[in-house]
Amino acid sequence: MSGDNCIFCKIIEGKIPSKKVYEDDEILAFHDINPSAPIHFLVIPKKHLPMLSDASSEDTQLLGKIMLKIPELAIQEGANPGQAGGFKVLMNNGAEGGQEVYHMHLHVLAGKRVGN
Ligand code: AMP
Ligand code: ZN
Repeated sequence: MSGDNCIFCKIIEGKIPSKKVYEDDEILAFHDINPSAPIHFLVIPKKHLPMLSDASSEDTQLLGKIMLKIPELAIQEGANPGQAGGFKVLMNNGAEGGQEVYHMHLHVLAGKRVGN
């Protein structure tokens, strides 16, 4: 299932290049093209879900898998470990939530103090 003219589906299909962080059969993670922190990557389901609001109970395992993968990938990409280190996970949902690309994605930011 691929969204028509969806830029992230094109990245999944390899039609648009990306700097990959991780890939398996259900998930892709790649560097954000316009980073807001020294470490800034996106984690997406390969399934084309436009936004979190479009997910349903059948996506429970997929969303859980993505969440549990993030700490591992943050460390892999250079986030400092433990309570003194860390990272920020952010998801925009809908226009008023600041979403620009309508293929659900989590931002992972780290490498400086990205918390408030
Ligand atoms: P959002 O506002 O949450 O929809 O964020 C979309 C993010 O996708 C932005 O941070 C963009 O910099 C990023 N982005 C857009 N196009 C690409 C691309 N081709 N490769 C990597 N990141 C991208
Ligand atoms: Zn898509």
